[in-house]
Amino acid sequence: MDVQANFNKIRNDIKSICERTGRNSDEIQVVAVTKYVSVQRARDAVEAGVFHLGENRDEGLSEKYHEIGDKAIWHFIGSLQTRKVKNILDKVDYIHSLDRLSLAKEINKRAVKPVKCFVQVNVSGEESKHGCKPEELEGFIIELAIYSNIEVVGLMTMAPYTDDTTRIRQCFALLKKCQLDVQALQLHSAPCKELSMGMSNDYEIAIEEGATYIRIGTSLVGNENGGV
Ligand SMILES: *Cc1c(COP(=O)(O)O)cnc(C)c1O
Repeated sequence: MDVQANFNKIRNDIKSICERTGRNSDEIQVVAVTKYVSVQRARDAVEAGVFHLGENRDEGLSEKYHEIGDKAIWHFIGSLQTRKVKNILDKVDYIHSLDRLSLAKEINKRAVKPVKCFVQVNVSGEESKHGCKPEELEGFIIELAIYSNIEVVGLMTMAPYTDDTTRIRQCFALLKKCQLDVQALQLHSAPCKELSMGMSNDYEIAIEEGATYIRIGTSLVGNENGGV
């Protein structure tokens, strides 16, 4: 596993997609998802120049944060239990999985300064997926405005795991539409400039549809549980 070579390939992909679609590649940040790999592999990512790291469990976050600390920018990307909020707030820079008021309330209460949050939206409609329903999003964003420690920097989604690229594209396009609806509210609490979408198997499509944060695990740092 050569993290530097993987990162170079992903960066080249980003560049060529941006040239083709008229986007500026500086708008796109790569988050290395390190949930399947060791601290050493996460360190390799930072040394390769990937400064954004993503974890989906508080234990994994604590372990890696302890070793790497503020050499990285930390993203919490997994579904977040309310009782775990207190364990992560002193480490994370971004939370990608805000999907309910009870969670917002807890973050707001525990935080000492505004927390950059992505509201997770279930654009695919799959029962198994977390996230707020698209039709409930604007109401949710408006309700969040009273929480002064919550800043809605963007929206996050996961597309279905499928070979049907048309369906994946529709999901990402719907998240973009949701973003425009939120921006039209013109809320100080929800600038919503960012879109967190795209993983190892679908990041090219996500960039074409407007992603600004892509979350890549397997094809960047590998999967040590899966033997890669
Ligand atoms: C695991 C995970 C990823 C990365 O998945 P890969 O397919 O390994 O790139 C991205 N986002 C979320 C929310 C994840 O849980």
